[in-house]
Formats: sequence, C-alpha cells, structure tokens
Amino acid sequence: MTEKIYATDAYAAEMQAEVLRTDTDDNRVLLDRTVFYPGGGGQPHDCGTLSIGDDRLEVIRVAEDSDGVWHWLKGSLPSVGMTVDGQIDWDRRLKVMRTHTALHALCGVIWNRFQSPVTGGNMAPGEGRLDFDLPDWTADEIPVVEAALNDELSKRRAIEVSFLPRDAADKDPSLIRTKVNLLPKGIQQVRVIDIVGLDRQADGGTHVSNTDQVGRVTIPKAESKGRGFRRIRIRLEDV
Ligand SMILES: [Zn+2]
Repeated sequence: MTEKIYATDAYAAEMQAEVLRTDTDDNRVLLDRTVFYPGGGGQPHDCGTLSIGDDRLEVIRVAEDSDGVWHWLKGSLPSVGMTVDGQIDWDRRLKVMRTHTALHALCGVIWNRFQSPVTGGNMAPGEGRLDFDLPDWTADEIPVVEAALNDELSKRRAIEVSFLPRDAADKDPSLIRTKVNLLPKGIQQVRVIDIVGLDRQADGGTHVSNTDQVGRVTIPKAESKGRGFRRIRIRLEDV
C-alpha cells in the first residue's frame, strides 16, 4: 500500500519515496508514499515529475487501485528499491484545491437556501460544476447565490480534515445528506472535510485550509437539465 501524504497534508508538494513495484506494460511505478493525488470525487489527478539523480521523468497519469497509488511515467522506469524525488505541478494543484473548496462552499450555500442535495459534479483547475435537485430555481437566483457564495468565502472559515469511524459517520446528519451511506461497506474510516459552520462532507480530495485562499468566484452559467435538475458552473475570478 501507498502512504497517502495528500490525505493529511494537502500543501505537501514534494516527497521522497521508494519504488515498490514496476509495470513495464503500462510504464508505471507503485510508490511507498506519495503527494500525487490519484483522481477521484470529481478532482483530476496531479501531474508533475519523479527525479532520480539528474534524470527527471514526467508523471503523466496517476491512479489508485487495491495495491496503492500508481504513477505513469514518460521515459525509462526506475527499478524496484530505488529512491525517487517526487514533485507535483503546484500551480495546477493549488487552482484545483481552490476550485474544489469553492464547490464545497456552493454545496453549503445551496443547502442553506433550498435544502437541496448535490447529485453530481466535476472540476478542472479554475472551474467546476455541481448538479443539484433544485425544483424552485430561476435565473434570478444566479446573482443571489453568487453573492452569498462570495460572502461565505470572505468569512475566513477554516477547513478541517478529520477521520471518523464508519459507524459514527453513518449516523452523522450532515454526512447522511451527502450520501456517506453509499461509500463501499469495506471502508472502515471516513475522511471528513469540514468548512466550519458552512459545509461538511465525506471526501477524499484536497482543499485549501481557509476559505480566504479561494478568492472571488463567479457563476457564469446555470443550466436546466430536466425536471428539477440544475447544473451550476463556477469559475475562480483570477484564472
Ligand atoms: Zn470534495
């Protein structure tokens, strides 16, 4: 298994790691620890480099399976047992963390205004979207929600990461509404992201540590995708 440094320290951009396994068919390596997020929950995987001495290998894809976190490389693979220095593309990751945090804040704002749950979502560095079951929505809501979202972000709310035993998570009202019960039964410990006072959800991704790091956000578009189904898009103002 791979120690997931990103799960407890979203600001770690570098690591030293040992190669546990190689796969020459796919040109990928399994590492004992990593700062590279493998993708999931709508958040894209990180990109970056693995260095061995003077050799810098580009990491073009990252994904997790039951063995751990695999890193796909451009160039010749290092051998099992070698030490590598990993570095993620930090500019890209920070934009993703700010975007991801803004989407959680949007969940909180929509919940407070409509008590409507999120049904899906996706993000790229600097922009993202969430889907809601929102029967009462009209286009007049866009500026109202945008203002409420920026107001919440400007409140300097802390974002805390914690780990809850599964039984406790299954009984937590704020987690139930974000469908914690749909997590595979085998997961015994649930990672929780709490924008204190605004939004709390089970989540494996990376987020900034305070809402003031998100900056201002715009809502360029909200689409109607069928009965009650609204897709709200957000964008970081400075990217
Ligand atoms: Zn999330």
